[in-house]
Amino acid sequence: MTKPSQADEALDAPPETFEDLGLGRGLLRTIQGLGWKQPTPIQTQAIPLILGGHDLIGVAQTGTGKTGAFLLPIIEQLGEPIPHIRALVLEPTRELALQVDKALGEMLADSPLTHAIVYGGAPIGPQRLALKHGVDLLVATPGRLLDLMGQMMIYWRDLRFLVLDEADRMLDMGFMPDIERILRRLPMARQTLLFTATMPPEIARIGRDHMLEPEEVTIGFNRSIAEGITEWLYPVRADQKTALLLALLDELHIESGIIFCAMKTGADRVGEALRKRGHTVGILHSDRSQEERERTLQRFRDGEIPLLVATDVASRGLDITSITHIINHDVPRAPDDYIHRAGRTARADAKGDAITLVSPEEERSLAAVERLLERRFERSVLADFPYRGDPLGRPSRGAARKPPPSRRGGGKRRGRHHGPGHTRNR
Ligand code: AMP
Repeated sequence: MTKPSQADEALDAPPETFEDLGLGRGLLRTIQGLGWKQPTPIQTQAIPLILGGHDLIGVAQTGTGKTGAFLLPIIEQLGEPIPHIRALVLEPTRELALQVDKALGEMLADSPLTHAIVYGGAPIGPQRLALKHGVDLLVATPGRLLDLMGQMMIYWRDLRFLVLDEADRMLDMGFMPDIERILRRLPMARQTLLFTATMPPEIARIGRDHMLEPEEVTIGFNRSIAEGITEWLYPVRADQKTALLLALLDELHIESGIIFCAMKTGADRVGEALRKRGHTVGILHSDRSQEERERTLQRFRDGEIPLLVATDVASRGLDITSITHIINHDVPRAPDDYIHRAGRTARADAKGDAITLVSPEEERSLAAVERLLERRFERSVLADFPYRGDPLGRPSRGAARKPPPSRRGGGKRRGRHHGPGHTRNR
């Protein structure tokens, strides 16, 4: 059974420092080197519980600092290196696995502890070799880990920590049978940490069946969009979406933005339309080879490519701090993907815009997003765009409001980026 959350007490507590959380000197130096001044709420709550040996369910989105919340106390407890895996972190996608492995590399910069990563879509040979040599911490995607477990003996007897990260995402992607198979092979005497953005019954069941009296910590990001994000909704006919997108991009001069499409074919099509218009874009979806995806992401991170056109493969967890704009070319079909997508911008207190194009056919998906967020969006009209029909669905032309001038660069916006030139219909 799950114990009650400690979040309420923590809300009134004075802000803690990393020193207060029980981490040792070595890691405190590392944290300082990372430039982290204060623990985030999930870190404040989770780190002492994990150091105290508890199983933990963390209900938190990416962007909350949850990676540090589980990696730091695990590293703290591992001590000296041994050539057997003692911590396993399971991630749903290779992008997330790579990101966690990178964070791990930074946190282990001054430590003799070793780590490795195994994920699908890359040659298995070098991954097998890394495991043969033995590492302290392993980051893995479930499918590839099972392949490797089928091909070679992995010595699990020293495993002390298992992290199931983005558990609801693993569920969505159909990984639960794989997870169960992996869990059956791992020693029982371990600490299990599960992180999830939502709590569907299947995830609660893992808590009951595979964890020991887990503590639960909830960071209230579940239904909310970060404060720095301004949201815009543009109703438009489906056949005019890409044209509207191009018109918006002409207004916005985006330095770093992701355009989300529902389908891979859509992403290819939109990407091509943007290229034809002279934009430099990268396209990211699961039909692209692993190498190509990594290269594209890196170029995007480095600022060489200002625009990324992606399917939801890119929406969860990718940690790129400078993204100023998210554009949903299509309304996400799973409502919580709206939150995940919007969460790619305005990270770490920055500002950002989340822009969604909605066609009449997508109104139901939009209503689901609004139900999840427990609020309605205001609707906007792009000034001077040659709409076919009234975008706001009003009966006669006479009723249409003349769009006011662009707000570009003006108004109350803060930061370098600016909002779309448009009006909101109140
Ligand atoms: P995560 O939710 O783990 O993906 O973390 C999101 C971003 O926040 C990453 O870029 C982290 O490096 C950063 N971060 C995590 N913890 C802190 C902290 N205590 N202070 C500042 N940045 C942090």
